[in-house]
Parts: sequence; C-alpha cells; structure tokens
Amino acid sequence: MIRRLSLVAIAGALVAAPARSLTAQAFTTDDPVLQRIWTIGMDSSQTMRLSQVLFDSVGPRLTGTPNAKGANDWLVGLYKSWGVDAKNEQWGKWRSWRRGYSHIDLVAPRVRSLEGTMLGFSPGTGGKDLTAATVILPRFADSTEFVKWLPSARGKFVLVSAPQPTCRPRDDWQTNATPESKERMDTLRAQVTREWGGRNVRGTGYSLAIGTGELGLRLEQGGVAGVITSRPKDAWGTIEIFSTYNTKAPAIALSCEDYGLLFRLTDNHQGPKLRLNLDAQSLGDQPVFNTIASIRGSEKPDEYVVLSAHFDSWDGSSGATDNGTGTITMLEAMRILHEVYPHPKRTILVGHWLGEEEGLVGSRAFTEDHPEVVKGLQALFNQDNGTGRIVRMGGGGLVNAPDHIRGWLAKLPPSLQKQVEFPGPGFPSGGGSDDASFACYGAPAFGLGALGWDYFNYTWHTNRDTYDKIVFDDLKSNATLTAMLAYLASEDPATITRERVDLAALAAARATQAPPPANAAAGAGRGRGGPTTWPTCTKAPRTTEPRLK
Ligand SMILES: [Zn+2]
Repeated sequence: MIRRLSLVAIAGALVAAPARSLTAQAFTTDDPVLQRIWTIGMDSSQTMRLSQVLFDSVGPRLTGTPNAKGANDWLVGLYKSWGVDAKNEQWGKWRSWRRGYSHIDLVAPRVRSLEGTMLGFSPGTGGKDLTAATVILPRFADSTEFVKWLPSARGKFVLVSAPQPTCRPRDDWQTNATPESKERMDTLRAQVTREWGGRNVRGTGYSLAIGTGELGLRLEQGGVAGVITSRPKDAWGTIEIFSTYNTKAPAIALSCEDYGLLFRLTDNHQGPKLRLNLDAQSLGDQPVFNTIASIRGSEKPDEYVVLSAHFDSWDGSSGATDNGTGTITMLEAMRILHEVYPHPKRTILVGHWLGEEEGLVGSRAFTEDHPEVVKGLQALFNQDNGTGRIVRMGGGGLVNAPDHIRGWLAKLPPSLQKQVEFPGPGFPSGGGSDDASFACYGAPAFGLGALGWDYFNYTWHTNRDTYDKIVFDDLKSNATLTAMLAYLASEDPATITRERVDLAALAAARATQAPPPANAAAGAGRGRGGPTTWPTCTKAPRTTEPRLK
C-alpha cells in the first residue's frame, strides 16, 4: 500500500515536471488540435518517466499476481491524478501467486551460481535449501517405459529440455562458420529439436506445454525433487520464461549456457549437485481486472474510439516491450488527448487488458461485458509487437475502413505519413493480440504494427525484456501518432460501416503476391497471412484455464 501510494505520487508529479527540450520536427497544420498533439507528444513526452516507474518499480504483471493488481491500481491512480476517469473492472478470478527470489547454485563438482529463475507459479522450497543430484530424462519407447523409470528419478532434479549443441545465434554461425561446419550445426540443431520437442517429449506421452505442462505434473507425482528446463531463443543469452502447474516440485528455467553445463556434467557422470532456494507463495484464486479509462463523447457518447494494449506480461523480466511499450503508448496518448481534446465527439476509451498471455482473456471478457462498446465501435487501435515505430496499419478486413483510414493518415505530419504503410482493408485479426477479441464480431479493430528491433529473439517473453531495450524516440512518436489517430477517428463525420472483405477471394489473390519484407511488422492485421474465413468469437474463461498440452 505504501509503495503504491508513493508510486502514484511520483507519477502524479510528472505532469508538473518541466518539459524536456526535445525539438519536434516542424509540422504545421491548420488543425490546432493536431498541432497541439504534435507539440505535446514530441516536445514534452512523458514516455520515459512513465516507463521508468512502470518497468523498474512496479515491475512485471503476470495475470493473477499481486504485482499485476498493484499495477492496475497504479494506472487508476495515475489517470485520476490527470483528471481522467478510470477504474479497475473485474472479469474473473485467476490463480494467484507471489514471486520471491530464486537462488540457483551448482554446488558439485564445483561451485557456480547459475543464471535462471523459477517459472511463473512454481512452488518454492519453503525458505530452505533443496539440494539434490540431477538426472537427464531418457528417451523412452513408450509411456509405460516412462512410468517404470519414474521411481529411479525420485528425489532428483530432472533435466527435461534439449541440450543445445551451441548457444551462439544462427547469424553468428552464418557470419563466421565454414559452410560445412554451419551445415553440420544446422543438422544437429534440427535433430535435437525433433528429439526433445513436441507433444510427446522423449516418448513419455506428455508435453511441456509452455513451461512444464503435463510432463511436469507427472514427474511431480513420481516424487522428483524438481524440474529443470531451458527454452533458449536464437540470440545471445535470452530464454523464454513461462509458467508451471506443478504444486510441489519446483520448476526452474536456466540460461542456454548453464543448462548445457548441467546437462554435460550429468551426461558425463561428473556428479553434479544443484541447490535451489526459491521463495514463492501460492495465493489461491484472486480477482483479476482490466483497467479502463475513458473520456466521454460530447456528441456521440455511444460511439467509441478504443485504445487497446494488453497490460499483463510474463514475469521473467519486466515486460517492457511485451507489452509495456504498447501500454505506455496508450497511456501517453490518453494523457495528451485529455489535455488537448477534453470534449471528444465520440467517447474515447482505453483498455489495459489483463490475461492476454493466457489467451486474450481480459479483452474477450470485456467484449462480453460491454456489448455496447462493440456495437458502437468506430475504431480500435491495438499495439502489441514491441518498442519499434509503427510502420504498418491494418484495415481489419472491412471494406469501408480504407476510406476513413486513408483520410486520417493524410492529415498526419509528413514524416508519419511516410512511415506508416497502409495496404488497404487487409484481414480481421485472427488471434495473437487483443484486436482479435473485437474483430471476431466484425467490429473495426486495427493493428498498429511496429518495426521489429529484434523483438522475437531478444525481448518477447524473455529474461531480457527490460527498460534498457525501449527505443524512446520510437515510443514517443507512437504515442503521438496514436493520439492523432484517436482524435481523427473521433472527429470523423461518418461512422465506419461493417461490410466484410471476401476473405476467400483475398486468399486466392495473396497466393500470387510476393512475401512481405523481412522488417514488416506482425500485429498489423497479421500482414498478408490472414485468415481465409472470418474468425469466430469464443467465450472468455472466468477462472484459470490450465494450459497443459
Ligand atoms: Zn504481447
């Protein structure tokens, strides 16, 4: 509580902070609102200071955790300090858990502190050291053989992930290896992926899902001391960190290098012992919330412009680019809009959704709880693919959308017009981020696709998704762009109609087109790889939906 109040106080003080003397590129328009959005967004951006508080102090926002609720409360306090209406809206109850410290040490045959952390929702070690030998999950002919083997693993840490033959990224091999050695490495990697991946890991009959899945539960039932995993990315030092459904045997994720070390020591019978001291606490089921802020429309209050970005994150680091930067974009856009456009024609609403990583749950729940917003939606802008500048915008698969979007884009500063590609109606989002929760109703939901900045290999769901990765020039311009789009959509004299594109015909046409450029963004209507039938809406689970397979 004390921390929360002090954060609100810090954030509240931001408004009064002196403007930073960054100079916006010249932009002149006869629209005074656009002019002011540009000036405020580019010359006195708060993105850096808001990011510092959110990512360094508030921290990760794993759905269901007290940290996520603290973050919800921080947002509401911040909006209120700006004079914007905001509230936390409960959409269900989710399993809850507190992450404490993870101390992971190799203690034999030599001592080394290992780089790793608990998976989300892992049981801890009850404030004590848990020291045990390690064993590699063998390859089984079938699950019967696996079950027969289980007693021999009792009391041991089981290594269940693939031993990577190299922790160097592919582009390093591409640059430096001889062609023969690169080919050998590619073959080895493919072999390891085949042998350790999939739904039937090592012939056990079980999968690790995103974390430890059913296999973790079966190992726990067999009395193992813990489950040791590693999911390296194609990068230097990054691993994915998801969650476990284990309740007794802790599950940890190690870096590629340290997992490899432990694996080789075990494989070569060099007597490795691992010591875990993990602080964690299961908190049962707790209420979960979306944070919703709004500025009521003065002429058409029942029509909505929605700013959308999921607020939850995985918690291997601070979720700075997934989806902290989308969050800050919408938050800063609302700050600017409230300041320069306090009486919008249509209602402007921002949705900071939770449960996106669990399957777009918070936003789906919102559409069920607020059919009036889906019905009255003029435009939704969703951003969720990293810190880069927005370079592509989707049309949501609606025939009428380009007439409107092209009109809005034409009013933007020339630098932004040049930056944002808009290929036309495109496709409805079929999943991947929260615009899909609205698109399935045929509502105008548009993805704002960002430039990559190595998102997939370095920050997406990894241990390195931290403040330092944010590209503030891009973030500042994204918030400004989004505020302008929201203003223009709100002022648009006409409402976007809902005729849908012929997806089957589009798919046929797409087959004859060249693939999108390598730096094209995901998230913006999913590029050219859209669905061939209109996506259907599925009911949001209001309690934890385990992902075990
Ligand atoms: Zn995301």
